[in-house]
Amino acid sequence: MARKLAAGNWKMNGTRASLGELQALASGNLPTGVEVLICPPATLISRAYDISGPVAVGGQDCHTAHSGAHTGDTSAEMLKDAGASYVILGHSERRSDHGETDATVCAKTEAALAAGLVAIVCIGETLDEREAGDTLKIVGDQLTASLPDSATGANVVVAYEPVWAIGTGKVATLAQIGEVHDFLRAQLNARFGPEGETFSLLYGGSVKPGNAGEIFGVKNVNGALVGGASLKAADFAPIIAALAES
Ligand code: PEP
Repeated sequence: MARKLAAGNWKMNGTRASLGELQALASGNLPTGVEVLICPPATLISRAYDISGPVAVGGQDCHTAHSGAHTGDTSAEMLKDAGASYVILGHSERRSDHGETDATVCAKTEAALAAGLVAIVCIGETLDEREAGDTLKIVGDQLTASLPDSATGANVVVAYEPVWAIGTGKVATLAQIGEVHDFLRAQLNARFGPEGETFSLLYGGSVKPGNAGEIFGVKNVNGALVGGASLKAADFAPIIAALAES
């Protein structure tokens, strides 16, 4: 069975004062049967881990190399050492801000798996690609090229995040989400056999307390990657509860 995962991506937001939100989440009544993850900025991972209780902590990127002359970068081993158990890779903001290609994402995923992290590999189409009718081709190609052959349902989670829905308040329709998630499941099954069913498929793009329940009702949606609504425990907690109830 694919894990149910509610993953929060704080992006470049948060100072030590923000850890109160994680503390509130960790000390609240988290439902069983759902994994909860917060990915704070790298500067906060170690402190976050110390107070995270049942909440897992993750990074937002890692380098492909174990160590070396890469000023400003962070390796998967360093994230693991700081307390991370997950890392988000290939987020569309990394792909656009830093020119990350599928090959880069695949190499980073291999580095993450070698360090014992679970990689959340992000894929998704732009608005132009959707309007051109290319969505399935784009996400299919990204999925194929971003996942190494060593990927399993235990060490990789796939996040479908339509670029036009991230941080915009625009949410994909349930039919659009269902079409892509069914397609991704079929692709995973074709490549990995029965193992394909065990990959968790997250939807990401303006998930909020008000729309989470209906999104989690879509077949082959096993959770969410949440940006803005993960910054406050009061917003993230109802999303976690909706996933538990789905
Ligand atoms: C994200 O950061 O991956 C994301 C989906 O952001 P938001 O929920 O703010 O759209």
